[in-house]
Amino acid sequence: MLQVHQFPCLADNYGFLIHDPESGAVATIDTPDADEILRQAAAKGWRITDIWNTHWHPDHAGGNAAIKAATGAVVTGPAEVERIGAAPDRVVVEGDVAALGALQARVLDVGGHTLGHIAYVFDQARVAFVGDAIFALGCGRLFEGTPQQMWASLTKIAALPDDATLYCAHEYTQSNARFALSVDAENAALQARAREIDAARAAGKPTVPMTLAQEKATNPFLRAPLLKGALGMAGATDWEAFGELRRRKDVFR
Ligand code: ZN
Ligand code: FE
Repeated sequence: MLQVHQFPCLADNYGFLIHDPESGAVATIDTPDADEILRQAAAKGWRITDIWNTHWHPDHAGGNAAIKAATGAVVTGPAEVERIGAAPDRVVVEGDVAALGALQARVLDVGGHTLGHIAYVFDQARVAFVGDAIFALGCGRLFEGTPQQMWASLTKIAALPDDATLYCAHEYTQSNARFALSVDAENAALQARAREIDAARAAGKPTVPMTLAQEKATNPFLRAPLLKGALGMAGATDWEAFGELRRRKDVFR
């Protein structure tokens, strides 16, 4: 059975160590902060065997070299990780499988935030590590990709089972909620969730992970097709409505 250890690091990132107790294999999902990740693994009594990167950004792959040097971990990731240092030991693309002992994760291409961004989906456990592709009530900025590409990526994530657990890489939820309410004010599920988020953060609790069902009901980016009217874009395609939401979020204060 897949075990997930989640902990905050850097300013607003989450670290995730995943463990297969059967084989003892341990992967760190991304490497935001090598020292903290090594500390957390030691505290759990886990030996890191693998690094699984979602994309090349420094707060996701910047600790690869240090963790590899300390543990000998094998780096799996998209080819773009080469941009911040060494190429991954194993480059993966959509449809490939990453193995943690006997546990298998399917690689999804979720490009848009960066061109090569990937997610890792454990179909059996119904768990996905989505990096900066989708956030609780948000999605990644389009630094490299197009709205059309990102919409296709979000559509893939939305096709996972409703009860899938999504682990995203940042605690951005409270500010995402403010934007969501600005474009989807009448959504009662969103209003209720925003209150829960405020309570969780006031108590110092994380709002990550989330379920796909929650996101489908409240994440304005997944709800782009339903928000066309509110955006004044009745005749637009889904990805155009998504693109408009993303543009508005980029300048939202
Ligand atoms: Zn990023
Ligand atoms: Fe990030």
